[in-house]
Amino acid sequence: MTHAYPLHVDVEAACLCCLAPQPFHFTSLSDQVVCSKCVHHLGTEKSERRDLEHVKLWAARWASSETSHAEYIAETDALLVARDTDLTALRDQVAKLSALVAGQFSAGIEGVRGLLQNDLVKRAERNTELARRQIDWAMAGIWRTEALHHDSAPQNNSAAQKCSCGRTAGSCAESAAIDPLRQALRDWEKKNVALLQSGRRHGLPGEHPAVLAQRIR
Ligand SMILES: [Zn+2]
Ligand SMILES: [Zn+2]
Ligand SMILES: [Zn+2]
Repeated sequence: MTHAYPLHVDVEAACLCCLAPQPFHFTSLSDQVVCSKCVHHLGTEKSERRDLEHVKLWAARWASSETSHAEYIAETDALLVARDTDLTALRDQVAKLSALVAGQFSAGIEGVRGLLQNDLVKRAERNTELARRQIDWAMAGIWRTEALHHDSAPQNNSAAQKCSCGRTAGSCAESAAIDPLRQALRDWEKKNVALLQSGRRHGLPGEHPAVLAQRIR
């Protein structure tokens, strides 16, 4: 009777006597598939002894597999506990890192917001300053026009209102053109005289009486 196991290598095969998986090292296809403990069962031994030995073998195998199974269970439990501990530690780390990143992110946003606000404020201030200079320039022009064209007191008992340029009030185009701006001009003038007198930058033209008075002092 031959077997189909590979030759000249260590293999595990079911012993045909005890039926347990046993180590074999076959050198011939005609080798008996009977383990070393069972070799003497093939002779003329009594079947009681053979059966007793098989029972002992199986009992020992079962006990050993129970032990290794219990060990495996214990090892697995320990691994699971260790993994739970690792996972808890990792979750803590993730939470800490998330908080850190969130904090830095919002700090960054605050910084950017601050810069933008600064920039916007600076731009607005620059625009306001430009607008103020343009208003000063225009108002100085209107002031010069107004100096030449304003209502003068009636002279020679004449009831007719005259423009300071000599034309009658109704016929001076320049006077008519600046009429709607006279109140704004007065306000601007008042504000800029105050600036001048407090030593600050003002938009009054050089020939304005307040500027001339300041120079004389
Ligand atoms: Zn055997
Ligand atoms: Zn046997
Ligand atoms: Zn006039």
